[in-house]
Amino acid sequence: MSESKKSQQTQLVQTDYRAPGGFAALQTGIHYASTVVFENVAAMHGTRWQQKSGYTYGLHGTPTTFTLEGRLAEIEGGKHCVLAPSGLSALSLVNFAFLKSGDHMLIPDNAYSPGRDLGIWLQRDYGIAVDFYDPMVGAGIAELIRPNTRLIWTEAPGSISLEIPDLPAICAAARARGVPVALDNTWSAGLAVRAFDLGVDIVTHALTKYQSGGADVLMGAVITCDDKLNEKLELAHMHLGLGVSVDDSYLVLRSLATMKLRYEAHDASARKIANWFTRRPEATAVLHPALPNCPGHEHWKRDFTGAGGLFSVIFDTRYTEAQTDRFVDSLRLFKIGYSWGGANSLCVPYRMQHIRKAWPHKGNLVRFNIGLEDTDDLIADIEQALKTLG
Ligand SMILES: *Cc1c(COP(=O)(O)O)cnc(C)c1O
Repeated sequence: MSESKKSQQTQLVQTDYRAPGGFAALQTGIHYASTVVFENVAAMHGTRWQQKSGYTYGLHGTPTTFTLEGRLAEIEGGKHCVLAPSGLSALSLVNFAFLKSGDHMLIPDNAYSPGRDLGIWLQRDYGIAVDFYDPMVGAGIAELIRPNTRLIWTEAPGSISLEIPDLPAICAAARARGVPVALDNTWSAGLAVRAFDLGVDIVTHALTKYQSGGADVLMGAVITCDDKLNEKLELAHMHLGLGVSVDDSYLVLRSLATMKLRYEAHDASARKIANWFTRRPEATAVLHPALPNCPGHEHWKRDFTGAGGLFSVIFDTRYTEAQTDRFVDSLRLFKIGYSWGGANSLCVPYRMQHIRKAWPHKGNLVRFNIGLEDTDDLIADIEQALKTLG
């Protein structure tokens, strides 16, 4: 039908205009789509959603989301990547992909709390046995593996208590029994450790943190090197109907270029402030993987090249919870809020007795996320707030 024969109403829906080809820009385009159109029926029937060489439906990928997946796999040294709507849904995706009723999984006792709670839920309502293990267990993990163990979670470090596990030892023991190891690698941003080289099979990220860098996007990713593991992930991803917004994908893509610079800036500032804290009489311990007294410091030194912006302080037992809460309330530059990886410094008091099975410290714990403000200004802010402790 020629252009002139079309009614205005049809013109409003369909156009004969074609933008010229050959456009090239530095950033990936944002492709909005639920429906993806095919050249003909044969092309439609010839394209399978599992193959990321083509497009079938918006939920299964657009050039925008494929590009983000490809770039994340590349950064991590992996082969496959799937995106999830949050870091937590990346964790649940892995559980759905590899576990069924009657199976057993191992989760470190210092794991990200909502991921830990997810394990408890799967145990209570879905017939999956879960054991929480000491994150410093190392090769001792072998004794915890059962004939029906199908997944071992690791996290490096625990994002509140900051222990770095012996990943190669855990991975070797798991491999000997044919059990895949998943690492929540959010803390390293995929920059500070080569997880697959250490023997990890599945890497998850909360892209919400350093990859986004803006404290404004929620997204997660699961990365693997293995085609078979990826097949299971793709299948669970499809059945669960997980998709991410292309606008959000664009924001993450845009932030990748600056991620290493930001990570190194967070790292340098956090190390300086953590060191400063070790000389303060109010603190009985400073938990930061680069500090020699931090559990797993030797693993960090061996396996990692950076440390990001997190550390926790254990306050002297002479301070009550009300006092350390008041300290947090008295901070001006540090905002009170969950998450990390954005430009703003954040601070959260955690009640560890309710989080950990075995926790050696008696004093109250406050976790700091060091943002990109000037380091000395942040120290001055902490110093003025410490005065409220009395
Ligand atoms: C934040 C975080 C998650 C969850 O990410 P969301 O996008 O907030 O759901 C998972 N694991 C770790 C270690 C995290 O820090």
